[in-house]
Amino acid sequence: MISVEEAKKLIKESVLPLAVKEVDVVDALGYFLSESIIAPISIPSFNQSAMDGYAFCFEEVNQPLTIVEEVAAGDVREVAVEKGNAVRIFTGAKVPSGYDTVVMQELTEVSTNQLTVKDQGLKKGGNIRLKASQIKKGDIGLEKGTKITAAGVGFISALGYTKVKVYESPRVAIIATGDELVKPGNELKEGQIFESNTFMLQAALNKLMITPTISVVEDNQKETQQAIAHAIQNNEMVLLSGGISVGDYDFVKESLENLGVEDVFYKIKQKPGKPLFFGKTNSCYVFGLPGNPAAALSCFYQYAYPAINLMKGNLAPFLPKINLSITKQLKKKEGRAVFYKGHTDFKSVTLLEAQGSDMLKSFAIANCFIYIQAEKTVINENELVEVHLLP
Ligand code: AMP
Ligand code: MG
Repeated sequence: MISVEEAKKLIKESVLPLAVKEVDVVDALGYFLSESIIAPISIPSFNQSAMDGYAFCFEEVNQPLTIVEEVAAGDVREVAVEKGNAVRIFTGAKVPSGYDTVVMQELTEVSTNQLTVKDQGLKKGGNIRLKASQIKKGDIGLEKGTKITAAGVGFISALGYTKVKVYESPRVAIIATGDELVKPGNELKEGQIFESNTFMLQAALNKLMITPTISVVEDNQKETQQAIAHAIQNNEMVLLSGGISVGDYDFVKESLENLGVEDVFYKIKQKPGKPLFFGKTNSCYVFGLPGNPAAALSCFYQYAYPAINLMKGNLAPFLPKINLSITKQLKKKEGRAVFYKGHTDFKSVTLLEAQGSDMLKSFAIANCFIYIQAEKTVINENELVEVHLLP
């Protein structure tokens, strides 16, 4: 059995980014750049007025000026500049070369075409966005590995690009195993349970903009192996739920061996999710998640989620970590690291009730894990603990 730290190191070492594809900038939301974006132009590409007002020469700030012209946003004319003159200008318009300052219209006095500047605090260069003040032509606009946000889509578009190169997103299959599983909406007989892991994992994947394919198989060797074989052929990731322990009806491990899935690790010194399996083929990564729902989701966020991030080219694949003080003393056994369900207001963190690996009640209102290392046994009230924020 390996430690949590070793397992995470193995994930980081074995998961490679997928192929690169070119997409329309607007469709790149949520993807990660496979190469840095270089600015083909400066922004602004000309000295630009930041206000509706008047452009003039600052050395003439104390004298009345004659308003001779009007320049609006998008105006591409060259406007001649002469001593004693000013131009009416609007936000976003090109400041005629020769003028060095803009005064906002609220701080002026205008009678017919005579301008008096009334802005005491105005300095030379005021209210002008200088050419290249945001980015200079040829500089890096966004680094490789940056996640594209709505603002990123805007910025890349502002640079004039229509397409962008990003890493592909994996195709993911979920296979749940278990004779006891009944699809919600059907009648539940005593001894059966409603199948929930596929819906839960689907929801977690949807948040990563992945729509998985889903199947549920019975606890028999042949059906399990066939389903896995098919999923491995058609996906870059397979998430198995259940059947990975050592019970007489657990056929996942055996099927994976028969199919030649290379074992990267099996079993981690952790709670929940001790029997987690991670393996790979040439073209697919496979997680054997525990069947217990809270254990399955904990393992998903701690290991499968970072693996997906690595495939997508995310250079910071794991859940974001912060250290916060815990609101109550916590005791645990030595030997296994524990991922507790917690709730944080970002000032401190509180352990939730009902931590069982079969229980989703508390997980459903959690917004973080509290991670306690294997060797720790007592954490005192107000002690700092490692908190992993849920997406
Ligand atoms: P297993 O890992 O197959 O031994 O399952 C462990 C526990 O998780 C059992 O109580 C199962 O009934 C439950 N379980 C397994 N798969 C699912 C599922 N897809 N949805 C909800 N619970 C499940
Ligand atoms: Mg089972």
